[in-house]
Amino acid sequence: MPDVVFSVDQTKSMRDQAVPGHNRWHPDIPEAVRVKPGDTFRMECREWTDGQIGNNDSANDVRDVDLSHAHMLSGPVYVEGAEPGDLLIVDILDLGPIPQQDSGPVAGQGWGYTGVFAKENAGGFLTDYYPDAAKAIWDFSGTEVTSRHLPGVRYTGITHPGLFGTAPSERLLARWNAREQALIDTNPTRVPELGLPPLPENTLAGTATGELATRIGAEGARTVPPRENGGNHDIKNFTRGSRVFYPVYVEGAKFSGGDLHFSQGDGEITFCGAIEMGGYIDFHVDLIKGGMETYGVTTNPIYMPGRSEPRYSEFLTFIGISVEDETDTNLYLDATLAYKRACLNAVEYLKKFGYSGELAYLLLGSAPIEGRISGVVDIPNACASLYLPTAIFDFDIRPSSSGPSYADRGSCALSS
Ligand code: ZN
Repeated sequence: MPDVVFSVDQTKSMRDQAVPGHNRWHPDIPEAVRVKPGDTFRMECREWTDGQIGNNDSANDVRDVDLSHAHMLSGPVYVEGAEPGDLLIVDILDLGPIPQQDSGPVAGQGWGYTGVFAKENAGGFLTDYYPDAAKAIWDFSGTEVTSRHLPGVRYTGITHPGLFGTAPSERLLARWNAREQALIDTNPTRVPELGLPPLPENTLAGTATGELATRIGAEGARTVPPRENGGNHDIKNFTRGSRVFYPVYVEGAKFSGGDLHFSQGDGEITFCGAIEMGGYIDFHVDLIKGGMETYGVTTNPIYMPGRSEPRYSEFLTFIGISVEDETDTNLYLDATLAYKRACLNAVEYLKKFGYSGELAYLLLGSAPIEGRISGVVDIPNACASLYLPTAIFDFDIRPSSSGPSYADRGSCALSS
């Protein structure tokens, strides 16, 4: 096992760790640990809400989740010799739930959860159709999961980190805050909100105290969106064996992350659509000096997926186009709407087998489904497709002349 350079006692909040992590992006969050290019090390991670969600049959905790605490990140890791303009090479060697802890109250202790966020609290991709909070608890068995809330389903997870990235420079942070505020200003009262501006309340700034901590709270960018530094990509293919090249914007790169997922479908459509957990992740780091300019990689990470992922070879694929069915309105090459329609089409199909809309939504968020942008030139309709692996069901999900095998498929956890 590699040296643990960032450790987490899972019985405590991230705020009460010997060296706490952080929940905002800011260049001045003090380094938590120092490593060298060529080093291999382990980081332990809290589940992203810092333990707000329980292993129970009510979604009230998802409904009431306080996003000002999120995401609870481990780090920053200072990489010696890293300078602005370099590319930080990050190899994901291994990751998983909290080791040697198969039961307990914290997600990652043998279990994880998927949540549908309420429309008033950030919502989800289908929030106009499913505005209320919902939750499914998943039990881990080796590489597989099952859920008491989702009978008839068992699948192999595609384990990955939802969120890792480097610290922004002061200038880059200012750009983020300005452009995101400009978007929010176009409709400041929208539900769900268009973006999340800096929020001093519940800011955790690592080991910073006093004036510095106050400034980080006032300026620090929220961790929900992905940005130039990486951040909350929620790319399910960041599996073991992946190599990510992150732009470096500050001395030491200040690499941080967390939000480990046991599994996730493309799009993470319920917002909290992965199977969320705390756990560990092992890295190897190196540098390409001046790599941002050399490779033209200045506003985004690039990466090479690992070769470890579930082997599903048969899919039932749902297609969506950029038409709002309810109003018969065409949107011009809108890939987001097309993917939304593909998801809704899959939900309607799954209802014929006895799943509620919420259960189908939770399943599409968490299972290793493939989402693809299939066509964006065939005016006026964009075309997206969603590939549902047929082998994750213990009954035949394929269409046939004998009709769907309807059964009582239970209920997910709902809010009261
Ligand atoms: Zn997550």
